[in-house]
Amino acid sequence: MVLENIETIRRKILDQLSNYPEDQVREIREQVENATDEELEEFVMSQQNQSHQTQCIFCEIAKGTMNSVKIYEDKDIIAVLEIMPASQGHILVFPKEHKHFIQEVDDKILNKLMNFVKNISPIIIKMLNAEGISIYIPQGQIAGQGIPHFVINIIPRYKEDKEKIVFDWQREKKENEELEIVAEKLKKEAKEYFKQQTSRDNREKEELIVEKKKVIEEKTEENKEEKKIELPKFPRKIPN
Ligand SMILES: [Zn+2]
Repeated sequence: MVLENIETIRRKILDQLSNYPEDQVREIREQVENATDEELEEFVMSQQNQSHQTQCIFCEIAKGTMNSVKIYEDKDIIAVLEIMPASQGHILVFPKEHKHFIQEVDDKILNKLMNFVKNISPIIIKMLNAEGISIYIPQGQIAGQGIPHFVINIIPRYKEDKEKIVFDWQREKKENEELEIVAEKLKKEAKEYFKQQTSRDNREKEELIVEKKKVIEEKTEENKEEKKIELPKFPRKIPN
């Protein structure tokens, strides 16, 4: 490691200290300032060798070792305000457990995350006077996922931010034949999953039919009972 780099790293570590709870800051600052270049190099290397859980800022936020402005927290998920927001009210909601990609997140937890998005969205519109919301989930470094921890960005959209936040791509019309080739590729690989889904749908449909039949039968029984009661056992007197 070059000496200039060591100084840059020392400065970087000190800059990041503002994110840590106050009681820890003084101790870390002293250690970093007093560390020799060799000690600092060793420290950085050991940090790099540790697992994601100790390096990842989202894991740090989840553990409470890094300060954040929390909106919501339970045992599985946490939602905080982005420290460098794209717009006012930019929320990050993520699983507490370190997961890189969406496919690694447990269904139950994914459901919790999406439910949070669903319920907070109208509140953002109402309370922050946003006109819309962009829900942004980068997957992989190329997509802008700088830290390998699955995060859903909830970005309120305002007229004045329209130029600042851009989700755009060069639009180019493709022929159906070309699209079919892509669709086939995906459908072939996803065949098993799709089959599971459709058989689940069919099972649910069958269960629903059985349930409906039961309700109809019960109602017919009730009607019979009612009719029995309604029927007078003696002839009614016709009023004069
Ligand atoms: Zn993490």
